[in-house]
Amino acid sequence: KQRNANQPEFLQAVKELFKTIQPVFVQHPEYIKYGILERITEPDRIISFRVSWVDDRGKVQVNRGYRVQFNNTIGPYKGGIRFHPTVNESIIKFLGFEQIFKNALTGLPIGGGKGGSDFDPKGKSDQEIMRFCQAFMTELSKYIGPDIDVPAGDIGVGAREVGYMFGQYKRLNSYQAGVLTGKGVGYGGSLGRTEATGYGTVYFVEEMLKEKGLSFEGSTVVVSGSGNVAIYAMEKAESLGAKVVACSDSNGYIYDPDGIKLETVKRIKEGERGRIKDYTNEHPHAEYFEGCNGIWSIPCDIALPCATQNEIDVESANILIQNGVKAVGEGANMPCSLEATDLFLENDVLFGPAKAVNAGGVAVSALEMSQNSMRLSWTFEEVDEKLREIMKNIYRKSVTCAEKYGYPGNLVAGANISGFLTVAEAMMAQGVY
Ligand code: NDP
Repeated sequence: KQRNANQPEFLQAVKELFKTIQPVFVQHPEYIKYGILERITEPDRIISFRVSWVDDRGKVQVNRGYRVQFNNTIGPYKGGIRFHPTVNESIIKFLGFEQIFKNALTGLPIGGGKGGSDFDPKGKSDQEIMRFCQAFMTELSKYIGPDIDVPAGDIGVGAREVGYMFGQYKRLNSYQAGVLTGKGVGYGGSLGRTEATGYGTVYFVEEMLKEKGLSFEGSTVVVSGSGNVAIYAMEKAESLGAKVVACSDSNGYIYDPDGIKLETVKRIKEGERGRIKDYTNEHPHAEYFEGCNGIWSIPCDIALPCATQNEIDVESANILIQNGVKAVGEGANMPCSLEATDLFLENDVLFGPAKAVNAGGVAVSALEMSQNSMRLSWTFEEVDEKLREIMKNIYRKSVTCAEKYGYPGNLVAGANISGFLTVAEAMMAQGVY
């Protein structure tokens, strides 16, 4: 703990895992002797580097880049790249740590890693974004490769940024399709990757609801964020008959009692790279509120936090519970604080943890790697069908492990234990290093 004293997000992620995996050590005392916990919480390596780039005024700017290669026991390091001013070592380590278990849950051969920079893409021109991505990849390219470490997108990194990074990698190292995922479909990307995390989130929540005889049909849904995960979670929820009444960005949220018009959100956020506030220009009956937390005071049956970490605290969780929320699915990584998660579990709210719920993105990234290796591309329907099956499997594994280890119905514990067991067994088999 002392070694990571200034890393609250990382400690939060580790604590969440530790809280639930104690029963595993009763059945597997050898994990203690072989230092599985000590080893799994210490990254294989952390790479941190200077990123110098030239802005549109000709001035040199300097940011810090990171890649945390956490654990490659079951496959090459795999995890996204985040560009956001709040990025620091703690954030990248928490994301990389969770990625180990999430990737194991997919059942595909991928290890855990994560990267990013404190670069703020907001307000930057397309040329500035390109120069930054090229500078970032010039350094990162020394540490990655299709069988070593395969980065992808995350907050602030979408198809445009992956494209610029891929171009730079190719210039430096020749063409290697499998070095990044989330690429454009015209040059090695997979159909269905853009939709995968959002759709996967809804597929997982659908499974949770089914168990209680519930469904998306006719339910009211609140989704935070309006980025990649949020947009496609809204799209799938709507297609299953739900009414999504609110979404947000980092400035505020919109409430449309008639149901959010997704084509407007897509145009503003994906096309114009604008602010969610602009939604009310086109739909004046909708309301805009400054600030993010208030979105959880809107009564809903299903809450899908899809923006960022720790966006639901105890206060927001209490309001959601008082308003009768039936299910919460974490589309974002660690969007609920530990205390908020406990509150949902204690109040019998169906709760899907991020490691399981949002694993669809990395699962389809792994399918992109498979297609790149085979030099084939699958149809959207083939990818979507595989995604759906993977999400069902993750749900079943989480339920089974929760029951087997004494936490019936607790998917936080079930997902943690299932992912942990997969990696721990492989670590045992590969000897101490
Ligand atoms: P995007 O950058 O596409 O969208 C992020 C959204 O969240 C934007 O609407 C953004 O608002 C909002 N947001 C970001 N930071 C904050 C903040 N500090 N406070 C409030 N709102 C914020 O990212 P993604 O949709 O890709 O990622 C969202 C979450 O999902 C993250 O936790 C990510 O780690 C997780 N995730 C993403 C996967 C993927 O495939 N993309 C896979 C698995 C998990 P604004 O526009 O104002 O910045």
